Amino acid sequence: MENRILGLHHITAIADNAQRNYNFYTKVLGLRLVKKTVNFDDPGTYHFYYGDETGAAGTILTFFPWEGIGQGKIGSGMATNIGYSVPEGSLDFWADRFTQFNVKHENVDQRFSEQYLSFQDPDGLKFDLIVSPTADNRKGWETKEVTAEVATRGFHSITLTVRNVAPTAKILTDLLGYKLLQQEGNRYRFITDAIDNAAVVDIIETSNLAPGKGAAGTNHHVAFRVKDDNILMEFREKIASKGLSITPKIDRDYFFSLYFREPGGVLFELATDNPGFTRDEPLAELGTSLKLPKQYEESRKEIEQALPLLQ
Ligand code: ZN
Repeated sequence: MENRILGLHHITAIADNAQRNYNFYTKVLGLRLVKKTVNFDDPGTYHFYYGDETGAAGTILTFFPWEGIGQGKIGSGMATNIGYSVPEGSLDFWADRFTQFNVKHENVDQRFSEQYLSFQDPDGLKFDLIVSPTADNRKGWETKEVTAEVATRGFHSITLTVRNVAPTAKILTDLLGYKLLQQEGNRYRFITDAIDNAAVVDIIETSNLAPGKGAAGTNHHVAFRVKDDNILMEFREKIASKGLSITPKIDRDYFFSLYFREPGGVLFELATDNPGFTRDEPLAELGTSLKLPKQYEESRKEIEQALPLLQ
């Protein structure tokens, strides 16, 4: 089973103001900042990684906060909703908390026999907190205000919105090992049995929705999890053999990656478990200092001066 896609690895989105993003995810949502680094392709921009205590695969939400980038537009050909798994009985706590912090949210609703609460982050990125009947024993990161009884446990699902479900579904089933579980209206639920959690991908088919525009409040890419580099390269061959264009293996310091665009327009990544977030700082200190990839270490001073100050 270990040579399979093990559900979601991380999800990356775009924000505008770095401080506002940091405050929302660490304080309101109660996630742990597990790594503070820069965008490897644009070192004048932060790259924040939020997750559980260790930054386990399937819990990692990452952001490029591009100051002044302006509002993106959610549309077809992108991931349009991020689902977090939360404990049973926690949705009232979250609804109250969102009211208290002026977070845009909806009433609790139900879909595929699961209760969920929709909300948006300060940039308009969309989320659902979902109570899944499937056992989820992952331990959420605890803060003083967000305790284990209510804390998010990591991802439940990602939702992709595309104009035509079939080509994207084919990638999920033929290449990534997912199968169709259920359908409700124009929402198709896919799941992999290779892993217990973060195993769901929903596809919404909307034939007349305009394409999205990537900027603040939109998703950048969705990363699926593989165990190690060998399996990563096995998938590279498999994906390339279907005629899809895929990058070489890229070293992201905390994992190794490949990227390809699925036919519906969403940027997919495959990412490894190794080496993980403790490769350059101990577990207790994750996220407390700015970490740079070695090619930027000699410019640390200039980079630190250019980045917005975080409080
Ligand atoms: Zn990524």
